[in-house]
Order: sequence, then structure tokens, then C-alpha cells
Amino acid sequence: MKSWTCIENCGACCKFNLNERSYLEDKLNKKDIALINSMTDKDGWCKNLDRENKKCLIYENRPHFCRVNKFSIAFKGYLKYRDKFLIDCCKQHISSNYGYKSKEMKNFKIAISEK
Ligand code: SF4
Ligand code: SF4
Repeated sequence: MKSWTCIENCGACCKFNLNERSYLEDKLNKKDIALINSMTDKDGWCKNLDRENKKCLIYENRPHFCRVNKFSIAFKGYLKYRDKFLIDCCKQHISSNYGYKSKEMKNFKIAISEK
């Protein structure tokens, strides 16, 4: 069984397009959505992401919805599938933002021991 982990220098989940992430609708309140809108640049990427190094500049103080393993508790899919749910989410973000053959995907697969 593979274990989920977040890898460094990724940030693939730091691009918000709430229209494409409708599954978040009932997990976020108005305050969260206002915060997301204030954090989001015109191209959808979070303003707090150091794009060159793909690191969160406010990591210790990042909002609750950025804390993947805690926020995921709100999803039925996570409660049922646990690591698989998180792994699939990360792969989806990495693939759509960097490509399926990207170095981020390669690093992620290595980190979860799927080569
Ligand atoms: S997509 Fe996954 S591995 Fe990449 S930063 Fe987000 S949680 Fe971490
Ligand atoms: S606050 Fe940090 S973790 Fe959250 S989306 Fe922005 S860069 Fe990513």
C-alpha cells in the first residue's frame, strides 16, 4: 500500500480555479472564498507561492484549506480511501499544471514509492 506524502518544490495544488474545483464548494465558507480570491493572481496561481522554487512563502501560517492532510478529513473520498484519495488528488494537480511527464510527477512517484 502506497503512502501519501507532500513533496518539496511542487506547489501544484497552489493554483486556484474554483470553477474547476467544484468539489470544494461545500467545504469552504464565504471567508475562505474571499481569502482565496485575495490570494489568487490573475493567472490563477497563489501569490504566496515562490514560483521559481515552488515553495510557500507563508508555509507556517498558511490557511487551513492549504493543510492537505487536515483539510482532507472533510471529504468522504478521503475517509473511505485515505492515501489513495490524496495520491490521486496530487497526481491530478501535478499532471494538469506541470504535465504527466514532469519532474514534479517523477519526484512525487518516487516519494510515494511508485516508480
Ligand atoms: S500537489 Fe501534492 S505534492 Fe504537490 S504541493 Fe500539493 S500536496 Fe504537495
Ligand atoms: S498559501 Fe502557500 S500552500 Fe496555500 S496555496 Fe498559497 S502557496 Fe500554496
